[in-house]
Amino acid sequence: MLYGALEAGGTKMVCAIGDENGKIFEQVSIPTTMPDETMPRIIEYFKDKDIKAIGIACFGPIDLNKESDTYGYITSTPKTAWKNFNIVGCIKDALGIPVGFDTDVNGSLLGEITWGCAKGLTDAIYLTIGTGVGGGVMSNGRLLHGMLHPELGHIMISKRTEDKGKCVCPFHQNCFEGLASGPSIEVRWGQKAVELADKEEVWKLEADYIGEALVNFCMTLSPQKIILGGGVMHQEQLFVLIREYFKKYMNGYIQTKNLKNLDEYIVPASLNDDQGIMGAIKLAMDSVQ
Ligand code: ADP
Ligand code: ZN
Repeated sequence: MLYGALEAGGTKMVCAIGDENGKIFEQVSIPTTMPDETMPRIIEYFKDKDIKAIGIACFGPIDLNKESDTYGYITSTPKTAWKNFNIVGCIKDALGIPVGFDTDVNGSLLGEITWGCAKGLTDAIYLTIGTGVGGGVMSNGRLLHGMLHPELGHIMISKRTEDKGKCVCPFHQNCFEGLASGPSIEVRWGQKAVELADKEEVWKLEADYIGEALVNFCMTLSPQKIILGGGVMHQEQLFVLIREYFKKYMNGYIQTKNLKNLDEYIVPASLNDDQGIMGAIKLAMDSVQ
């Protein structure tokens, strides 16, 4: 059985065809420009591919409430051309097949839970730290939506006194994304993040912020595992530092088997950056059940 997968991002749309084992047979990337230019190219790619359903793991905010008149819409995104765009309706009308829909980060988490390092877990978090910071949550075996969907990148974090940078989030003065995203690193240090690889102070401060955020997520969502992906996390030295700060801020308050081994608790994404597209395949599979 073949399924379509669309990982819809602010800069590119990754389209793929895969099967129920998460195997990807082919994949293309289409730039995200205007909906009336980008969507016909996506539809052209998927039509005649003999897919049973399609899963969309989408940038947001998006409407996931099936009772809502705007279910399947991208809602208040700063990418104005895509604001209030009915992405699910557009694909469904053109292809006439079931469409699964969730956030990009819930998609990545679902990929890791189905085929990756979080296989079989009922409670886990996937965080991306890249251009923005976002997080997907599975709680009690279900991807968490709630009122809208979690926005883990915009929790409040205390800005360190030695931090001479500024919070780059236009909405908040001290949120996780504003202090720890790739662009915030670049504003703070005046250089591309990738060029700062050997600057210890850069990654200590970054890990400090991430460690504080992860303790907050651990306290509020009680995940069995925390998976970290996104461009910034390609700086692998961050993992050791993040675990140290996590331990420091946790300060022994929660004591479980999982937290005894932080190397297994706070881990990198395990699917070679295919977690999002593989998760979208699972969203497609689940849409036909
Ligand atoms: P997006 O979030 O747009 O989907 P990425 O996850 O690749 O894309 O994140 C891009 C951000 O990550 C940029 O701010 C970039 O500077 C940063 N980044 C990308 N690669 C690296 C790297 N190897 N080391 C540090 N930062 C990186
Ligand atoms: Zn914010």
